[in-house]
Amino acid sequence: MLKGKTALVTGASRGIGRAIALELAGRGMHVAVVYAGNEQAARQTQQEIEAMGAKAQCFACDVSDSAAAAALVKQVQETLGPVYALVNNAGITCDKLALQMRDADFDRVLDVNLKGAFYLIRQCYSGFIRQRGGRIVNISSVAALMGNAGQANYSAAKAGLIGLTKSVARELAGRGVTCNAVAPGMIETDMTRAMPEKAQSALLAQIPLGCAGTPRQVAALVGFLCADEAAYITGAVIPVDGGLCM
Ligand code: NAP
Repeated sequence: MLKGKTALVTGASRGIGRAIALELAGRGMHVAVVYAGNEQAARQTQQEIEAMGAKAQCFACDVSDSAAAAALVKQVQETLGPVYALVNNAGITCDKLALQMRDADFDRVLDVNLKGAFYLIRQCYSGFIRQRGGRIVNISSVAALMGNAGQANYSAAKAGLIGLTKSVARELAGRGVTCNAVAPGMIETDMTRAMPEKAQSALLAQIPLGCAGTPRQVAALVGFLCADEAAYITGAVIPVDGGLCM
């Protein structure tokens, strides 16, 4: 039962993360709505959750900052209780051909997408062990599985997230904690709206189901992975991509 347990969702102010926060609230969880800088959007997520009769609180945190990630988990535990479900969803892109990619472009994308997830897993780790249960869901991408021209940094970070997922899944399996990765394809959010139109239509043309997915379709899978029914799924990488990478 997820009812009354706490979920920490990063990047919950917008897009896929907001949909995940609403999905978990719909399953009765208290939700820590973590965002980087867009407080107004985070408050909107919080209000939508509260309108559903669930509990939510907003927390500003740059997940790429190790000390800030440690402080975040402490604050969440104090205000909402022990974290049962950790959803590492915060992500950024900084697309360029590898030839033109600066060190800072590469590092920043790895710091947020990959190291941020690691920092939060490490902070929640002993709590999971104490509870002898819990759920970790890392939001990867089809870019990890297929590669993507112009996204050497992002594809590397998202592929790293898969290795991280499998290692942590093995470490925590004996404690009843599962760790899985979800690999979305093209999902309608600010991130994909920012892509050049030509790139969007080229990608759409490759999708067997012929359309982009919605944040709710990704969130529904995350909700299931957090539920008791998914207790026998760990170390998995599950695409939500309209068949793009089959
Ligand atoms: P989005 O609409 O651009 O939203 C990004 C979210 O991440 C926002 O809530 C943002 O907070 C937060 N964020 C960014 N940098 C952060 C940081 N340093 N610390 C904490 N939070 C940070 O993205 P999205 O499309 O929903 O994507 C969500 C996840 O799915 C990402 O990991 C992305 O890589 C992955 N994904 C997306 C797609 C897609 O097609 N959309 C496909 C595959 C994978 P603020 O609102 O405060 O800026």
